[in-house]
Order: sequence, then structure tokens, then C-alpha cells
Amino acid sequence: MRTVICGAGISGLALAHRLAALGGEVVVVERAPGPRPQGYMIDFFGPGLEAVEAMGLLPPFERAAYHYDEGRLVDRDGRRRATIRTKSFARGRLLNLLRPDIEAVLADNLPAEVELRYDTALTEVADRPDGVTVTLKDGTVLDADLLVGADGIHSTVRRLVFGPEDRYLRYLGLHTAAFTFDAPDVHAATEDAFCLTDSIDRQMGLYALRDGRVAAFAVHRSADPTIPDDLRGAIQRAYTGLGWVTPRALEQCPPPEEIYYDQVAQIELPEWSTGRVVLLGDAACAVSLIAGQGASLGIAGAFLLADRLAHAPAIERATAEFEHLWRPVVEDKQRNARSMARWFLPSSPTDLRIRRTMLSLTRVPFVTGYLSSVLAGKDTKLADVMRQASGTTEPAVA
Ligand SMILES: Cc1cc2nc3c(=O)[nH]c(=O)nc-3n(C[C@H](O)[C@H](O)[C@H](O)COP(=O)(O)OP(=O)(O)OC[C@H]3O[C@@H](n4cnc5c(N)ncnc54)[C@H](O)[C@@H]3O)c2cc1C
Repeated sequence: MRTVICGAGISGLALAHRLAALGGEVVVVERAPGPRPQGYMIDFFGPGLEAVEAMGLLPPFERAAYHYDEGRLVDRDGRRRATIRTKSFARGRLLNLLRPDIEAVLADNLPAEVELRYDTALTEVADRPDGVTVTLKDGTVLDADLLVGADGIHSTVRRLVFGPEDRYLRYLGLHTAAFTFDAPDVHAATEDAFCLTDSIDRQMGLYALRDGRVAAFAVHRSADPTIPDDLRGAIQRAYTGLGWVTPRALEQCPPPEEIYYDQVAQIELPEWSTGRVVLLGDAACAVSLIAGQGASLGIAGAFLLADRLAHAPAIERATAEFEHLWRPVVEDKQRNARSMARWFLPSSPTDLRIRRTMLSLTRVPFVTGYLSSVLAGKDTKLADVMRQASGTTEPAVA
């Protein structure tokens, strides 16, 4: 089976890895000129970690990981207002990884047969009963048995095949920005724990990296989902006045091409596939950074989709089974993220105080199980979903 995957993000690369390992022919097209450098720290746990282990990639993931066992809420004067046990969100193993590092591990470990083409945007799709034809921006035409749109929350494949983005995107009222910068003083102030400002309607998180840089991610409330043209200016305006070391982060904010900036949103589609086209990861069902599990779900979803494609008797059946098994998992995370939005970014002094108390409780052993289900949703085990999957079809066709 020949598959074209649009998007060399976490979901697309994981699927390429898995399909090739199961004997498929795979071409990945990515519009960025090379691996995307814009980074933010990802809490990686749950079903994605199980998938990575099953793919034999746990050792390089562990080598790339950071370890922040503790998180701190810090006020504008630099005082610690709460200490968080970050591992309690995960109910098990948790790795902290930079997004570009996850993509690098996946790309570096791709089987040699996978064709990975950078600087190649997909621009047209023609879906036929017996296959799919894809046109790239340089005019190249590719024929395949299946097209997978793993091209993120603003997916081109989704727009071309399922319709305009505004039908499916649920804006959650927040903008987010992430960037890395050099500032030894900020590194020294943050090096032993993940730090998050204890602030209302806007907040900045800081992670000291092993190469001496600092990774910042920031979130602020905005009624208007429009992405500003001047990213640096918008970041300065949104986060000036947060106090502590944040003025230094703003001073060191890099040029726009090194900044990740987007609205915080979820994607909800009535169907993830039609004919020979299926969506995966954020393109199909973004859960948002509030859920803190999009990367994990992207990899686990890729693992499951590849399994169904290898075992179901027909492509359309495989994509339908994938959705049947995976949609309930994702919808639980989406619902949970929406209900947690208030605590993710408090909007009043009362909410701020409640959040401090709630996060401090992550250090109390007997309440962590309950809290993690409140904060992260149901405990999904990929192994359970795979067991369910193996009961859904006849044994694999050759
Ligand atoms: C600040 C922040 C913090 C987060 N924290 C966490 C966390 O703690 N834990 C977690 O699990 N998740 C987290 N997430 C979510 C996670 O990063 C995403 O869910 C995940 O990266 C989505 O991966 P993806 O491959 O589906 O999409 P993307 O990463 O968006 O990749 C899509 C790829 O497709 C390419 N593309 C787009 N259009 C085209 C086209 N027309 N042709 C060719 N290529 C195209 C893009 O260039 C990109 O490389 C966070 C997200 C943010 C923003």
C-alpha cells in the first residue's frame, strides 16, 4: 500500500515510522524548508509513551528528555506561591521533551525506505474510489492508495476535502506563544524547576534547557482569534507587567520566524475520513494545549491507524475502525480540557487562589489519583485500545 502523509509533525512522522515498519510504502510531504525549530516543552505521558515503547523508540526519547519533577507558581515579586508535583498529572511515567526534539527522534529513526520531502506543500487533492491523487506546490503529482492529513490544526487537507476551517475549529478564547532565548540570569533563576507565573488572564512558563537557553511559553486571553501580524509587538503588549524575570524574556524574544504563535483551539469534525483520505492528530481532533496531551494522542493515534491499515480488509474499513476506537478517547480529553480552562488560566483573584491550593495538593499522595483524573481526564491505556482493536476485524490480509 502506498501512502502519502501530509505533514512531518509528530503525528505524521510517527505514522510514517509505523507504516514503513509494517511494510508500507510511504511518502511524507512537509511544507517547512526543514525540521521546524520553534520549540516548546511537552509533557509526554500516557498512550503516546506506550506507543513509543512499542515502536522501540523509548531509549532515544529518554535520552532527549528533561526532568522537571517540580513546578512552581511564582508571583510578580519572585515569591513562590505554590509547588506542584508535575508527575502527578501523568499517573505514571512522564518525560519532558521539546517539540523539535520529539520530531528529531522520530525523523532520525525513520526506516530508510520512507521518502521525506521538505519544502513541499500539498495544494490539491483528487479523491477517487480506487486511489487518491495529490498535487504539490511545485506541480508534482503523486498517486497513492491513501492520503493522510497530518498537517496540524490549520490543516490544508481538511480544508480541501472536508470544507473551511471555521466549520470545525472551536476557539477557546486564548492565544499562545512559545520561543527559546539566551539569558543566563533567567536560566539561573529557573534551573531547578519548571516555573509558571501566578497571574490572571495571562501567564508565562519558563523551562531552563541543558544548553543554557530558556524555553518560554505564554498564554493570554483574547476575545479576538485573529493572529497578529507583528508577533513580537503583540507578545510585548500582552505580557508586559508580569514582573519577576519576565521582562528579560520579553527583551530576548527572538525574530518572528523563531516564534511559535497560534490561537488555542480544538478541532471537532463529524467524520475523520472520506474515501481514500483520513485526518490524523491535530488536523482531525486537536485537543488544545490545555489538555496537554496532543502530542501523546497524535503518536498513539498514528500507532492505532497503522495497525488498522495493516489488519483491516479494506482501507475505508481501517479508517472507520480507527475512528470508532480513537474518537471516544479524544473526545474525553477535549471535554476535560474545556472544563479545565478556568484553572489553566485563572481570570480572577479567587480562581488564582483556588488554583494555588489545587496544584499544591498534587504533592499529597492520596489525593493525586483523584486530581490527575480531574486535570488530565480518563486514564487511557493504548494496550486496552489495541486489545479492543484486535477484536474488530478478521485476521490481517497479506
Ligand atoms: C504551547 C503548547 C504546549 C503544548 N504542550 C503539550 C504537552 O505538554 N503535551 C502534549 O502531548 N501536547 C502538547 N501540545 C500539543 C502538541 O504540540 C500538538 O498536539 C502536536 O504537536 C500536534 O502534532 P501534529 O503532528 O498533529 O500537528 P503539527 O505539529 O501542527 O504538524 C503539522 C505539520 O504539517 C505541516 N503542514 C501544514 N500544512 C501543510 C501542507 N499544506 N503541506 C505540507 N505540510 C504541511 C506543518 O508545517 C507541520 O510540520 C502543546 C501545544 C502547544 C502549542
